[in-house]
Amino acid sequence: MYQLREYQTNLIAQIIKSMHSGHRHIIVQSPPRTGKTVVMAEIARRTTLKNNRVMFIIHRKEVLEQAELTFKKQDVNLNLATMGMVQTLTRKVDKLPIPNLILIDEGHHALAKSYQNILNKFSKTFVLFFTATPVRTGRLQLDQVADDIILGQSIKELTENGYLAPFRYFESPNDFDASKLKRSSTGDYTNKSMDEAMSSTIYGHIVKQYQRIAQGMQAVVYTYSIESAINVAKEFNEAGIAAAEVDGKTEASSRDRIVKQFRKQELRVLVNVNLFTEGIDLPNVDCVIMARPTTSLALYLQFSMRCLNPRPGKTAIIIDHANNFQKFGYPDDDRDWKQAIITQDKGKHKATTENTVQIVQCDYCFAVIRPSAVKDGKCPYCGNPVKVIIPKRVADIDLIEARRNKIDEIINDNVMQNVADKKPNELHSMKELKAYAKLHDYKPGWVYFQGKMKGLIKK
Ligand SMILES: [Zn+2]
Repeated sequence: MYQLREYQTNLIAQIIKSMHSGHRHIIVQSPPRTGKTVVMAEIARRTTLKNNRVMFIIHRKEVLEQAELTFKKQDVNLNLATMGMVQTLTRKVDKLPIPNLILIDEGHHALAKSYQNILNKFSKTFVLFFTATPVRTGRLQLDQVADDIILGQSIKELTENGYLAPFRYFESPNDFDASKLKRSSTGDYTNKSMDEAMSSTIYGHIVKQYQRIAQGMQAVVYTYSIESAINVAKEFNEAGIAAAEVDGKTEASSRDRIVKQFRKQELRVLVNVNLFTEGIDLPNVDCVIMARPTTSLALYLQFSMRCLNPRPGKTAIIIDHANNFQKFGYPDDDRDWKQAIITQDKGKHKATTENTVQIVQCDYCFAVIRPSAVKDGKCPYCGNPVKVIIPKRVADIDLIEARRNKIDEIINDNVMQNVADKKPNELHSMKELKAYAKLHDYKPGWVYFQGKMKGLIKK
């Protein structure tokens, strides 16, 4: 059996509390790589222990086998469990035994017809929607099907507690031309438009950037088409770096062989097309290379966090060739999930999720860094002098200029740099309060009020 981690036990306690207070359809948000399947297996074990029936629904066939092993290992009474892919279960829903509890993996898909068909059939059953990203691309959100949301530990907290590895993020500019990207009916970019948007120099850039900042690290590359994946693998092999390509059409036997070689470090780089997302076990990835733009936050987090399994002393490297940082920021940025699950009125635009944190990009190594990490005007990773470059997501020229000046100021002002990572209760002088207010665009009144509260201003 798996020994549950403290945050996993806490999550289960919160779920039980929510059920006791009358909720029946509960979203359980928990970041990727935090063992959601183990949590679901433990809940299933407790359910079947009381002779109640459980149903477990997954979205992709690749993860079913893994989940079945986890449930078995956790001593779930499998005679009382129905496990399967949503497409399979929805077809035979009339013949399925009525469950007391339904567990949905990747629950952000639950508004799709295939899920609704099952949920409508068992309308009196408790349902738990497990997901790292409780948000949809359309207008309708998960409040349509759920009456509560439980938030797991944040990625930042998990990293602080050693459950995830810290990372450095690098974004290579100009490998994709965003203006050529077009969305398909499913909301993500079409393969054709990604092909057109992709620069012909990307393959060379991918290998060069790996050699420059991640040489020797076990790396997984995400691409969007079999052809581009084959090209990336070829380019690595030609540079003397052992690489292989796997995709949905690769035979299971050769896929298993390639994964084994990667685990034994006989292969340095594994290139894949949408294969290594949730559920497939690949523990020793230290570097992720994204050569695939996406509009999906779920995919972005699954890609970028693939390399965050911790090991003492490890710092993971995320290399983004597809401008995903522009859209989503860092994987561990704070996101307001309680707000995200609320369906907006028709005609109203969704509150912008644009990241307004100020970022500096090193134009030598392409690291994207917070201004407070810049020491003596130098990039903390490569040591080259940092010229301030603002990510392109800010379209307004005046705004870019204003931000550039402000970031310059932050980098050149020691007091401002010192307070950048602090909270107001950690500020102990008027100088620090003033710098903090400047950094966060607070009004002078705030400085006066805080100063008075702290006894720094005499009457
Ligand atoms: Zn640098």
